[in-house]
Amino acid sequence: MSSSVIDFIATEARFGARNYEPIGVVLSRGEGVWVWDTEGNRYLDCLSAYSAVSQGHCHPKILAAMVEQAHRLTLTSRAFHNDQLALFYEEIAALTGSHKVLPMNSGAEAVESAIKSVRKWGYEVKGVPDGQAEIIVCANNFHGRTLGIVGFSTDPETRGHFGPFAPGFKVIPFGDATALEEAINPNTVAFLVEPIQGEAGVVIPPAGYFTEVRALCTANNVMLVLDEIQTGLGRTGKLLAEQHEGIEADVTLLGKALSGGFYPVSAVLSNNDVLGTLRPGQHGSTFGGNPLACAVARAALRVLVEEGMIENAALQGARFLEGLKAIRANTIREVRGRGLMLAVELHPEAGRARRYCETLQGKGILAKDTHEQTIRIAPPLVITSDQVDWALERLATTLTQDFS
Ligand SMILES: *Cc1c(COP(=O)(O)O)cnc(C)c1O
Repeated sequence: MSSSVIDFIATEARFGARNYEPIGVVLSRGEGVWVWDTEGNRYLDCLSAYSAVSQGHCHPKILAAMVEQAHRLTLTSRAFHNDQLALFYEEIAALTGSHKVLPMNSGAEAVESAIKSVRKWGYEVKGVPDGQAEIIVCANNFHGRTLGIVGFSTDPETRGHFGPFAPGFKVIPFGDATALEEAINPNTVAFLVEPIQGEAGVVIPPAGYFTEVRALCTANNVMLVLDEIQTGLGRTGKLLAEQHEGIEADVTLLGKALSGGFYPVSAVLSNNDVLGTLRPGQHGSTFGGNPLACAVARAALRVLVEEGMIENAALQGARFLEGLKAIRANTIREVRGRGLMLAVELHPEAGRARRYCETLQGKGILAKDTHEQTIRIAPPLVITSDQVDWALERLATTLTQDFS
């Protein structure tokens, strides 16, 4: 290890808030599925910045759109119109079949904006008494890190010593439609849920769950808000994960890959009058909808479709899952996934997933553990069959360890 590597890590530790515990690698370059560290070692990125870099690192067409726009105009604020926002609205609405769009920056901001919007809709359209709106969420959810959001997290690490929190949220188990039915009351305005729980360890609900959820929400005039910040934009092998279930959300949240990893861009999409309740002055963001963000997002959406990344995610995801299932290793408890959103859950006796991620690093693969026992695998959607096979070989030798 050269001194420069030690310096970067030690300097981060000295000055930075220690709210992360990164794997010991310092990256300085990326291209497609590959990243390089400061020593010139190459790694296959099996995290894709939690699915934000789905289009591959430094995609040349997104880069060109960003540079071109940065030369012309970056920020106007929404006090004035710009010549990119309308085109972004038009293109994302056409692609997703949405009627209204609210542009924000981070994923958490999109979630917060949806919460504000469905509450307002509840009071002004559904007729819920002021201050009484309830939103139902799921246990083990992950929707971001703001105070409003961590207040309805069920993870003690996420909530601990950050209160007091805002009221108005009810937690039910994920994947249990009966629990939803029982939790709904006349003041329920929305059910906020991830199609597949990402941070919880790629938890896929039982078949038919979302059909029942959709029916319950419709029957009770409850807005179904799908947080597709991680599952959306091709990650699961469809444009939106809701398409696997044959349903349509009332409100869809996108972020992460909406910019291909170049810039924070998120959006609230709505299929009805939820966003229509917002009047001038009632919600906003200085950077939300800025021309640079819009130009980047437009290019990120264009390459996703034009370069067949969604179809490739379905194809390579199936190959990856089949390959993982074929690994006969006593460390593996379960393998699961949809498209290129995959996870290997280890047996408790196998030790912490973190250790395996560090072994994988030594073999040229960067992956990230989640919840002690799970290795999450989510490479960019541009991965090829050869690269999947290359990764599988290394995963097989890493997971086939004698821990007895
Ligand atoms: C990452 C993520 C968020 C939060 O996005 P940020 O950009 O980190 O604020 C919200 N919901 C889901 C499902 C996510 O995966």
